[in-house]
Amino acid sequence: MAVLLSKIPILRSLKFRIFIIMFLIGSIPGIILRYGILSNYESRVVNVRTSEAQTQLRILANHLITYDYLGTPDSAVVNAELAQFSSFYDGRVLVIDDKLRVIKDTYEMATGKTVVSEDVVKCLRYGSNGISSRYRKKEGFIEMVIPIVETASLESGDYLGPRDTAEEHVRGVILGSISTDSIMATIENLGRRASLMQIVVVLVVFAIAILASGGLLRPFDKLTRAIADVQAGYTSRPVTANDYLETEHIVDAFNQVLGRMRALDESRQEFVSNVSHELKTPMTSMKVLADSLLQQGDGVPPEMYREFLQDINNELDRENRMIQELLSLARMDRRKVTMNVKAVNINELVEILLKRMRPLAQPRDIELVLVSEREVTAEIDEVKMTMVFSNLIENAVKYNKEHGRVTVTIDSDHKNLIVTVEDTGPGIPAESVGRIFERFYRVDKSRSREIGGTGLGLSIAKSAVLLHKGTIEVKSEEGTGTVFTVTVPLNYIPVQS
Ligand code: ADP
Repeated sequence: MAVLLSKIPILRSLKFRIFIIMFLIGSIPGIILRYGILSNYESRVVNVRTSEAQTQLRILANHLITYDYLGTPDSAVVNAELAQFSSFYDGRVLVIDDKLRVIKDTYEMATGKTVVSEDVVKCLRYGSNGISSRYRKKEGFIEMVIPIVETASLESGDYLGPRDTAEEHVRGVILGSISTDSIMATIENLGRRASLMQIVVVLVVFAIAILASGGLLRPFDKLTRAIADVQAGYTSRPVTANDYLETEHIVDAFNQVLGRMRALDESRQEFVSNVSHELKTPMTSMKVLADSLLQQGDGVPPEMYREFLQDINNELDRENRMIQELLSLARMDRRKVTMNVKAVNINELVEILLKRMRPLAQPRDIELVLVSEREVTAEIDEVKMTMVFSNLIENAVKYNKEHGRVTVTIDSDHKNLIVTVEDTGPGIPAESVGRIFERFYRVDKSRSREIGGTGLGLSIAKSAVLLHKGTIEVKSEEGTGTVFTVTVPLNYIPVQS
């Protein structure tokens, strides 16, 4: 049911709901009050009317005894009183004797007939205790029975019991009915006035509910407009809507998202401009090399051609390498990266990598040392972790001094594989340590370029380690060397995307 209701668009509107709640709260009490008061008034008036008429009928009953009306029903005084009662109350009176026979009917319709009504019989039997009245709302009258009682005084000297002060002798019953038309007319009149007032109240409540629901939700409309403006690009200022705590919270959250998006956008732009710049640099050198060869004319010695072509070839290699690395980064940045995880013997893997690095290390007499604290097998994506280790080892060789040393240590605790790559190079200045994992960041741009660096190696390494839910840390002391520590869980933990 609730699900069904929530499908109707207007019911999902907070404004509409506030309006309905206010409207109901404003108008329901009026309706309840109206019916409560009117029905209470009705029962009170009916009660007053009934007891008034009963008093009158009791007096009449006494007169009936006084004039022995039940014996000879022709007393002009009593008849006049009966007629007066009937006309005053717009009703009817039946005088019934103890044989249930109608002695007098002010309508003259039932005289001589027998009445078998439960109330009459009860009243005959129980006397004063059988007095009763009935409000017949639908028919529009109140019916009541009053006993015609003869009270015989006790003989003097008789024993008076605690209750028998007098003896009652029920001689008959008066059955009276009085019209409630006048009461109903008053109530209808009151009801009409109440309805009119109610309509006014409902209209006023309606207007207040519309104004209030609109007013209460105005800050939300304002907020929606402000967000729409940002989305349309009219403004890039942070949104403000501090009317309510709630809107303030929404705005804070929105501005944070906006801030993050802006930061992302900026870093994307910076990345694009860096990529263009980096890719352009080798192009420019190649262009300069080619131009200068062309300008030489015909008499260029072949050695010069060879030298220049070698330079151009180097630049092409760099360009190629940069594109390869950018592609690896792009692949790892994607939301859904395929991880080919399997158990890999890390000691063997690193040994092969060190062997591959030898040609780079030997010319500068750099010693490559592997310290295997223990045999470690870890669940990793071999290709990605190879990129991590080879980048770190290659850096350790590249940014090392002659006759230096690179030490790779393989260890593990009960949960993680721990690999450290330590070098004896110049180290990284303290102010740069925090930035070396950024894309294209290089401490010494020209030196890095000289040795074929692109500034992407460490960011690739970091992305790959993060895909394994691991960490990569660096400690460096200028003039002494640098230590990179890679920690990766032995059992692969999938990254939720
Ligand atoms: P690059 O291709 O320039 O080597 P990296 O992302 O691998 O790019 O490294 C970023 C920068 O960090 C390097 O340019 C270098 O300045 C510095 N760096 C990296 N490794 C070391 C190291 N072992 N010793 C000193 N500096 C290093």
